[in-house]
Amino acid sequence: MPRESQRHRLARMHAEYELLRQQIPEPACALDFQNPFQLLVATVLSAQTTDKRVNSVTPQLFRRYPTPGLLGTADPEAIEDIIHPLGFFRSKSAHIIELSYDLHTRFSDVVPATMAQLVTLPGVGRKTANVVLGNAFHIPGFPVDTHVTRVTGRLRWRTDWRSTHPDPVAIEREITSCFPPEEWTNLSHRLILHGRATCHARRPDCANCVLNETCPSAEMP
Ligand code: SF4
Repeated sequence: MPRESQRHRLARMHAEYELLRQQIPEPACALDFQNPFQLLVATVLSAQTTDKRVNSVTPQLFRRYPTPGLLGTADPEAIEDIIHPLGFFRSKSAHIIELSYDLHTRFSDVVPATMAQLVTLPGVGRKTANVVLGNAFHIPGFPVDTHVTRVTGRLRWRTDWRSTHPDPVAIEREITSCFPPEEWTNLSHRLILHGRATCHARRPDCANCVLNETCPSAEMP
């Protein structure tokens, strides 16, 4: 593929995103939650496991520990028993207790609605903070996970697509600079869903991908 101008790349990104919008008209957060605290804890629990598994344990968790104050002072072993199916249950139990205790003592049980405050909570990085901002507070947020990193690289939506260790913060900055803020949360959802359903890590299903006519990485049979 000849070197692509910035203007052409931007036009292609928007055209490809339009196709993703049509294919996935109503993307949604796959984690079940009823308030920002539940989403924050569920997002922390979702590391190294599936959202479906997280959804299978959180109803019981939040029924017994509905507030940061209660979860933050819980017996770690009782939490481990509930979240056991998620794997890494000891460290995850310790993480959500510490996080909840901090929310209770520093923020009076109220999840802060700013990036600057969210990332001061233990174990909360920009990815988790963006999930909470975008989905619980409807404040534009663009979480960069492994799917977003892979798909934006294959599509060459980002200039560092050759990098083997791309910087998530740089990805967030570059991709969000190309789309209006009101689109960021759904843009991330759609890239994640596309990565899960079609642009798989090992064998992308290019033959059945709606982006295969313009994607620079398309491998057609
Ligand atoms: S054409 Fe292939 S590599 Fe490109 S986005 Fe689609 S599945 Fe991924």
